Amino acid sequence: MVKPIKSVDEFLLIRESSNYADVSVGFVPTMGALHEGHLSLIRKSKEDNDITVVSIFVNPTQFNDKSDFENYPTNIDDDIAKLNEEKVDFLFLPNHEDIYIDNYNYTVSENDFSNELCGEYRKGHFDAVLTIVMKLLNIVKANVAYFGEKDFQQYLLIKGMAEAFFIDTEIVSVKTEREKDGLALSSRNIRLSGAEREKATIFPKLLSSNKSCSQIESELIENGFKVDYIKEFDGRRFGAVHVGSVRLIDNVKI
Ligand code: AMP
Repeated sequence: MVKPIKSVDEFLLIRESSNYADVSVGFVPTMGALHEGHLSLIRKSKEDNDITVVSIFVNPTQFNDKSDFENYPTNIDDDIAKLNEEKVDFLFLPNHEDIYIDNYNYTVSENDFSNELCGEYRKGHFDAVLTIVMKLLNIVKANVAYFGEKDFQQYLLIKGMAEAFFIDTEIVSVKTEREKDGLALSSRNIRLSGAEREKATIFPKLLSSNKSCSQIESELIENGFKVDYIKEFDGRRFGAVHVGSVRLIDNVKI
């Protein structure tokens, strides 16, 4: 059975115990509502390491929209059952006070790429992500931490932060898990209505087509999407759209 650990102090004790001695530790940080995308990261960590730590923390500081935070899906019993099936060793479920001992007075700030793509539409989002990930990496002290390509900009920024601050954890990416119809798995997908879910498949189809970014954007708008951006960067095409009240992001190699 996975051992849920709710305080930082308790986790630090695990780190000093025999569980951590002479083993390689893989770490998968998440916000819960676990799906096959998260499980693919966990399986990769299990494959590569002796023990695997998963964290679940819905980080309030990275939400720009209060209602998105309030409506973020949570289902901890289901999550624990899934982690048990995957034979995860430790579940870190930190409480807010332990994590934000500084009242979020200290932040990690990136001045360049964090303002592009999603950063242009979500002010402060990536600094909040980098700050929580820095805290978690410092607590868990894993050998390797796994991040999904679905959030490719996030992965690049975290990798850059780890390099910039000489963090002793290797940052590894894992490919995007998709539904059969191409939609990238996301915890937010369950908030799509039946009709919105059907419409959502147009987004990955167009993103991976050989049409130009502006053509894709026009077709998405024609189909009733609100488009934040469709842009190419470093051999990938990135997009963010709104379907009803749900914001979807995705990216594909081109
Ligand atoms: P989240 O719980 O949404 O913060 O995601 C936790 C981790 O799972 C992040 O590294 C995400 O990039 C990754 N992830 C989320 N969805 C997918 C997916 N469909 N395929 C692969 N990784 C994913």
